Amino acid sequence: SLKVRDVAALIEKIGDVIEENKEFLTELDAAIGDGDHGLNMNKGFKVVKDKMNSTNIKDIGELFKLVGLTLIATVGGASGPLYGTAFMKGGMAVAGKTEVDMNDFIKIMDEAIKGIKMRGKAEAGDKTMIDALEPAFNALKEGVLKELPAVDILKNAREAALNGVNYTKEIAARKGRASYLGERSIGHQDAGATSSFLMIDAIYEFVK
Ligand code: ADP
Ligand code: MG
Ligand code: MG
Repeated sequence: SLKVRDVAALIEKIGDVIEENKEFLTELDAAIGDGDHGLNMNKGFKVVKDKMNSTNIKDIGELFKLVGLTLIATVGGASGPLYGTAFMKGGMAVAGKTEVDMNDFIKIMDEAIKGIKMRGKAEAGDKTMIDALEPAFNALKEGVLKELPAVDILKNAREAALNGVNYTKEIAARKGRASYLGERSIGHQDAGATSSFLMIDAIYEFVK
């Protein structure tokens, strides 16, 4: 299981991965959106890092709340409020906890995805971050049912998220800016699904 400082280190690592991929994410968004996704996310996670280092955080619920509020306030666009809500809602699932395990992570993901759907009204197949997150969530649940080791569960979730990203290339966007292009968005992978995959990948890399 992970303690508060581990989760903070993990979130910092997610920020590093976003930074390493900021040009890539921005290129993906430029093809079918407005080309700011990587820059927006990087800006937000930089502030998250500063705030985590300057705030005394007692539990993981509070940490997630800090991340969520910061993303809402700094990322902007569609993804800022959506990822912000995801962290806020996810954090409520672990309010007061100083340690989290795989079952907690499943609860976090469940609430996070519900939050994104509530706020953005997207479903699987709309070519959004949901197309990476939902398959990953399903893989987590399946892995726990099969009683697989945590690393294997996360590896499967990573794989499922990547398959979801690839699936976004085949479909037309029905939500977000890319939906303005309709069928012309086919052939391009979704930027938000890609950033979601990168987060899951970072979690797998952190735990393995
Ligand atoms: P903006 O489109 O406002 O510039 P970003 O570029 O930061 O915002 O984020 C775009 C990403 O947000 C998309 O690639 C998509 O994954 C995600 N997105 C957009 N609208 C929605 C929505 N309604 N529900 C879920 N995800 C969405
Ligand atoms: Mg954009
Ligand atoms: Mg924008």
